[in-house]
Amino acid sequence: MPSEGNENKPVGTNENGTRKARGLSLMSGGLDSQLAVCILREAGAEVEGVVFTTPFFTPDSARKAAAALNVKLHVVDFTADEIALIENPPHGFGGAMNPCIDCHAKMIARAGELMDELGYDFVATGEVLNQRPMSQNRQSLGVVEKCSGLKGRLLRPLCAQLLEPTIPEQQGLLDRTKLLGLSGRRREPQMQLAAKFGLVDYPSPAGGCKLTEKGFGRRLKDLLEHEGLHERRLVELLNIARRFRLPDGTGVILGRDVHENRELAAKLAPTDTLVAPVSVPGPTAILPAVASAADLDLAARLVCAWSRFDKFEGDVTVKIVSGGETREIAVPRPYAREKFLPMQVL
Ligand code: SF4
Repeated sequence: MPSEGNENKPVGTNENGTRKARGLSLMSGGLDSQLAVCILREAGAEVEGVVFTTPFFTPDSARKAAAALNVKLHVVDFTADEIALIENPPHGFGGAMNPCIDCHAKMIARAGELMDELGYDFVATGEVLNQRPMSQNRQSLGVVEKCSGLKGRLLRPLCAQLLEPTIPEQQGLLDRTKLLGLSGRRREPQMQLAAKFGLVDYPSPAGGCKLTEKGFGRRLKDLLEHEGLHERRLVELLNIARRFRLPDGTGVILGRDVHENRELAAKLAPTDTLVAPVSVPGPTAILPAVASAADLDLAARLVCAWSRFDKFEGDVTVKIVSGGETREIAVPRPYAREKFLPMQVL
């Protein structure tokens, strides 16, 4: 498992001679996750960070925050877990395709495994009681603690004063009086703490995870219902391009600019079909399937409709790459986008 920065830090002791508690704090890079590290340090703990990455969430902000706080960061690929939860979320989805309660519990369980592996005392999060009405009320925090199997080892330093003392607090390894009792959606206390700790660089609290975006959720649901989520490249391609669903259910992924066209061509699988204009500038499309003649005809027309055909005379020549072979066809006019707009997955 990759980890970054602050290597070989020795275990320290507190002023009273007890050894310092050692914890792993979930780091998104957001303000609350940064504050959790600062508060834990004030309470006498040694802290390392852990970030869980998926095609829906990058570790960039966590990396930046960990570097600024001089925290060793463990980067864990969480894709297989996340896909399994999207396919079957025991506690359902939030407002989009975000299985937040189960995802959060699973991340904490994974962090717990890492905690055991490293011989640490607790896992921490930057959660604030009642900050999010669904996922951070008292009941949800309890569900997450139970589902993660970390009873007594899951510490929420920003609202710990309002929760039962955890095992490291009971053992006196952490100074509970230095932990906070924040509750609710007001951000002023966090802003004051940010000023106190000199934290200036953090993304907005809601940002970051694509699964919380409704439009992305619709595209993900479409993929789940047709090709499924077992191919990582198709999941990753949800982050780019337009998507269409032809009448027989075949998908078409259409590049929106030269960079996306290149990415689609680079990610072409042997079983895919690629369709692109050669006589005019225009987009590359891939069909993640061996396409029928009817699908190819539609896909070629679709590609022409988004091409810059108006500056050229005559039929557009389109290349089709399938099963290792390339051929060219002439697609007669007219090319009408309107025909394809109802097929677009928005
Ligand atoms: S916002 Fe995304 S990463 Fe965070 S708990 Fe929800 S699904 Fe998981």
